[in-house]
Amino acid sequence: MRYISTRGEAPALGFEAATLAGLASDGGLYVPDAWPTLSPADIAALAGLSYAETAARILTPFVGDALAQADLRALCEAAYGSFSHDAVTPLVQLDQRHWLLELFHGPTLAFKDVALQMLGLLFERFLSKGDQHLTIVGATSGDTGSAAIAAVADRAHIDIFMLHPLGRVSEVQRRQMTTVLSPNVHNIAIEGDFDEAQALVKRMFGDRDFSQRFQLSAVNSINWARLAAQIVYYFYAAVRLGAPARDIAFAVPTGNFGDVFAGYVAKRMGLPVARLIVATNVNDILHRALSAGDYSTGTVTPTHTPSMDIQVSSNFERLLFDLHGRDATGLAAEMRGFESDRRMTLPPQLRDRAAADFSSARVDHDAMVGAMRWAHARAGQIIDPHTAIGLAAARAADLPADVPVVTLATAHPAKFGDAVEAAIGVRAPLPDRIAGLMDKQERYATLPATFEAITGYVAARAKPRA
Ligand SMILES: *Cc1c(COP(=O)(O)O)cnc(C)c1O
Repeated sequence: MRYISTRGEAPALGFEAATLAGLASDGGLYVPDAWPTLSPADIAALAGLSYAETAARILTPFVGDALAQADLRALCEAAYGSFSHDAVTPLVQLDQRHWLLELFHGPTLAFKDVALQMLGLLFERFLSKGDQHLTIVGATSGDTGSAAIAAVADRAHIDIFMLHPLGRVSEVQRRQMTTVLSPNVHNIAIEGDFDEAQALVKRMFGDRDFSQRFQLSAVNSINWARLAAQIVYYFYAAVRLGAPARDIAFAVPTGNFGDVFAGYVAKRMGLPVARLIVATNVNDILHRALSAGDYSTGTVTPTHTPSMDIQVSSNFERLLFDLHGRDATGLAAEMRGFESDRRMTLPPQLRDRAAADFSSARVDHDAMVGAMRWAHARAGQIIDPHTAIGLAAARAADLPADVPVVTLATAHPAKFGDAVEAAIGVRAPLPDRIAGLMDKQERYATLPATFEAITGYVAARAKPRA
């Protein structure tokens, strides 16, 4: 399989090169040149397989000859062996038609582990072959940083520098990063807010000399391999609920459009997905785009669902590519317009095309709290605020009564204990794997929010290209 850029001007790459590159050199995102498909018999044959086996089967056409079958299988076993539930991503029934798919049993208790545990192993495997070294640099407002650190700690061919805004992430989130004392993990508290931290990271990537000297790489959800790993749980869940003989709907709490795009790929591959429900909080650019064609950025309103507080959904470009009939030249012009005007209009025929697969909902604070209370009262389930956004949208969706609706549970409720307690009056206990967190030693540097301070710090510790 070859990977092509959504903007058509970067070279097509194989799986290994696309994984290591992340973003395409023309500013676009890599996508497979064609969607692989599974027949109904292939899908039926997934029944009863372990999560790791399912992952190996789903990933095989994407990986192509970049890994031998046995190696891919071993990587999947290793990646998902770190999860604390035997089913890796268990389904929990809420009522006759509503289900939760718990994606938070990985090392940092959020769904990002599902993809990043795999990505960390893929990076290490590909880098060790050519004895290359990568410097991962990122800014985090919470969940991505800890999941990325957990995925690459102690790997010989990778250093990671993770910036977080000083005093502006929760104590659990900070400790999940700063108590990892591995020599290749460098946590930096920036004396500024998240936007300043992110701007510093962007500037480092934009500095060609610096970026090439240290072979900078990102682990955000623009990386194709990360998305590919997320396709797996759509198949895994749907097969358990009766696919391919039955259609299944999914409600997905959405920020960067990575998770729900993986569901779209599952559908293109042949999974009978009745609908993908895009659930946003009040930062509703995706809901406006899908329901009214208005893809325009505003200012971010902070909410209890920080992982969905976004202005621009980077992976939406991958859907736009398909909606434009894979016309990369046309899309590149549209994206340039969007980058300068901060707005784009989706004409009705594009919206109609999207409506064949997606619906959307904007869920405000009260509706989010209502969903948390319902799950607790109806099924005794404590759910986190992000999951509650998804569940509220799932319950409001207009679907045939015999279609099961699976809401993706993207974070463990203990990660957002205060918001949960405010809504339902109880806290979820901290799971064993992070119970000792508050007593562990921390290590991080505190730096001013200047380009000189941060590049100086990185240059003194990262390994330059040989
Ligand atoms: C990242 C995240 C999301 C949003 O996922 P996207 O792939 O960015 O759409 C939702 N919930 C939680 C808990 C997250 O960490």
